[in-house]
Amino acid sequence: MKRKLTPLATRSKARYALLALPLVFGVAVVTYWLPMSRAATFTVGVEAEAGNLTGASKLTTDGNASGGKAVSFAGAGTGGGGGGSADGCTPQPGKQLQDQDMSDSQLPWKRTPGQKVTIYFETKNMTQEYMPYIDYGIQAWAKSPCLDPQAVASCPANANCVTMSIDKNSTEADGNFDAVEKGGFTTGGHITMYAKELDPQGAGAKKNVTVHEMGHAVGLRHRKTDRVLMNGDTYDDVFDPDAIDFQNLLVLYGNQT
Ligand SMILES: [Zn+2]
Repeated sequence: MKRKLTPLATRSKARYALLALPLVFGVAVVTYWLPMSRAATFTVGVEAEAGNLTGASKLTTDGNASGGKAVSFAGAGTGGGGGGSADGCTPQPGKQLQDQDMSDSQLPWKRTPGQKVTIYFETKNMTQEYMPYIDYGIQAWAKSPCLDPQAVASCPANANCVTMSIDKNSTEADGNFDAVEKGGFTTGGHITMYAKELDPQGAGAKKNVTVHEMGHAVGLRHRKTDRVLMNGDTYDDVFDPDAIDFQNLLVLYGNQT
């Protein structure tokens, strides 16, 4: 989930879990919202409109893609259950999750030992505009030896599935991931992109928030460090997970038995 982009000098770190909706049979849908932080002033040469930063470091969609192209899909599954071998998803003895913003929470999916976790991102309700960002996110998170993310129009039956849609009305956030959790694992979820907030911010913000929400969907919570992908703020020039994100994925998935 992301709140609106605010200038560095005025960004606050306040965020909280808003609601937890218990469902039947022990399944819980948990929604975490970030409060919007309205900036009082804008300091750099940017145009302020409804609290959004629209100038500054806006990039074209592919302006910073160099870090995300060397991706191997070797071993990726092609459907159904297991996502190919996961030789690199090895346990990390003694390693802890790093740089965690504990006001946020996510859980990993259940991994079958020796296999990558296949997670389908269902795109049938997304516009063509978002497809390059989703594809970028697929390639970015596929760099983890534990994960086999796949973009599909419709999820296969009985598969790990994250649905996606665009909300045209709400101004609650830039984006959000609602997890379905059961038994200590994520078992499903939904990503919402908020057009009213994102459209004025442009391509960079849309790409950032798309890859970020996909990061939540693969099990990562927010990071405390500023200007990294999994920080709760929106950065229109940050698109790639970093070494700590991949380390955290090893901790989440490598130690599952
Ligand atoms: Zn977030």
